[in-house]
Amino acid sequence: MSRPHSPLDAPLRQALDKIEQAGRRRVLRAASMAPQGRIVRDGRELVDFASNDYLGLATHPLPAQRAGEWAQELGTGSGASRLVTGTSAAHLAVEARLAAFKKCEAAMIFASGWQANAATIPALIAAMPGVAVFSDRLIHASMHAGIAASGVRQHRFRHNDLAHLEELLATKGAEAPARLILTESVFSMDGDRADVAELSAIARRHDAILYVDEAHATGVLGPQGAGLCAEVPEGVDVVMGTFSKALGGFGAYVAGSQVLIDYLANAASGFVFTTAPPPAILGALDATLDLVPTMDAERAHLAALGDRLRDGLATLGLDHGGSSTQIVPAVLGTEARTMAIAAALEDAGFLTGAIRPPTVPTGTSRLRIALRATHGMADVDALLAALAEAVKANPA
Ligand SMILES: *Cc1c(COP(=O)(O)O)cnc(C)c1O
Repeated sequence: MSRPHSPLDAPLRQALDKIEQAGRRRVLRAASMAPQGRIVRDGRELVDFASNDYLGLATHPLPAQRAGEWAQELGTGSGASRLVTGTSAAHLAVEARLAAFKKCEAAMIFASGWQANAATIPALIAAMPGVAVFSDRLIHASMHAGIAASGVRQHRFRHNDLAHLEELLATKGAEAPARLILTESVFSMDGDRADVAELSAIARRHDAILYVDEAHATGVLGPQGAGLCAEVPEGVDVVMGTFSKALGGFGAYVAGSQVLIDYLANAASGFVFTTAPPPAILGALDATLDLVPTMDAERAHLAALGDRLRDGLATLGLDHGGSSTQIVPAVLGTEARTMAIAAALEDAGFLTGAIRPPTVPTGTSRLRIALRATHGMADVDALLAALAEAVKANPA
């Protein structure tokens, strides 16, 4: 048992109080995913518009079965880090499948997307002393962690504003020995896309390296769900993505040239000094790689759900930003209004993400509505009806 009054408790309680006073204290609540895009929380079944399991694969029987088979056959642990004894034939085979899926020469599996970004970015920066780093304003926290770990200052360009990026490349990048551009192909809070082809052209023009996080595009967009970078073969130097969203599993990847992967195996701390992902994770992923390319119908349905939801939000007079994907924000303004509307929706049986600062800029608090192929059109219509009521009860 821990001591009842550790000297650590006082400063931590103080820090928590500060978060609480800002109205931003968050707590963990148990929930479990259910079929048909549902979730059970506090004993209630809700229509789940908050999870990122876009294709319903997290509860699909095939990955669960293969995860079980591989665990039965190979065990529950991998024994060591990849460079010691942790690399199995299964790791190499699944990485080869991943590389083919992503249309890249090679791929490497990481324990999580956070870890992949936090480990890969500083490793790349270390290989390019003096590199100037350019990042979209809305990149994920894990990419910031990677940049921070390297200690370099980043030049942030306005979200998806590629003219601004070019301006910064010209003014801040021209004298540097190398340039690195960091962005996402689908942005997690806005559901809009980056123009990967144009980014690739800009990178070539300015002799820059292009790094793209495909966490929300993998499985959903691009040829056979391979992501938006797969539409620009060899146009992106470093393609990163996760298995934890549309692929319904756990873990992440970095894909690119063989030299990139060989280098990361030597230099990415979050790869070198961590235990290899275990067989069950690999088995689930292997099954997912069988399924995802065959799911064009599910992807088309997901796209249709998005169109329906955006039309409905527009009818309600709600801003959905630049969304063109399965992630649809309904921008509501203040934190208080957003929290009230999210609570009203939950009362009505719909779970959405209430996103507020610091995740998004002040004054743009929003519902983040994540659509899933397991939702029906009727689910979207019912959500819109409940939202209409909630918005009426909580005017701007
Ligand atoms: C979720 C996410 C990550 C982190 O991936 P995990 O596998 O959940 O650690 C990284 N980048 C983006 C853009 C994400 O949305």
